[in-house]
Amino acid sequence: MKSSLFALLLTLVCATGAAPLSPPFDERFQFLYFATIEGAHADGLTDAEVDRILLRNGGKGAFMHFIYACPICMPVLNGLLAYRTRPEFFGFKKMATHQSEHPTMGEGLSKELREELASDRQGVRLKAINALLTRWVDRRMEMLNLSPEQRKVWDKRFEDGRKEGMLMLENFRSQGSLKDLAPGFVDFKECAVCNAATKRSFMGPK
Ligand SMILES: [Zn+2]
Repeated sequence: MKSSLFALLLTLVCATGAAPLSPPFDERFQFLYFATIEGAHADGLTDAEVDRILLRNGGKGAFMHFIYACPICMPVLNGLLAYRTRPEFFGFKKMATHQSEHPTMGEGLSKELREELASDRQGVRLKAINALLTRWVDRRMEMLNLSPEQRKVWDKRFEDGRKEGMLMLENFRSQGSLKDLAPGFVDFKECAVCNAATKRSFMGPK
């Protein structure tokens, strides 16, 4: 079954002459991955703020703000991991905004977002992450200067991804694997990142 599906995909790729994108690094993955790296740079996210978003359960466990294998969460998570390893910007260090730590390009987050990310409450942090991602996705979407038809294609790609992510979340919950695969969502039924990609706010603090 798998090999026939692969053959079909290969035929389609050959027929259209398009360069093959190996799954899961498809266009949607690339959009969200680059939107995250770009947005984090533009906002001047500090290392402490990235680390806060990349918070792990008990310090070493699963990521608290992402759903494992969710097609919307994973590119964002990997974009943040890539941003976290950004260079010192050889020759430009003195021009960086934050002189005291690893340089960033942007001016930094608003006081409100900084406080929300620093919160001890999962729902408050998820709300801040939803706001950040909404901005980063919008930013890249604007840059692509899409026609209304192209915009609809992207909206559907994100909606489909969110559906998959939500299905995974509910499966993890019913299978009892939530603690290992999405520990931050024991009290939440929606994903802050998936909601941002589909222009939905996050349901608020808990
Ligand atoms: Zn998600």
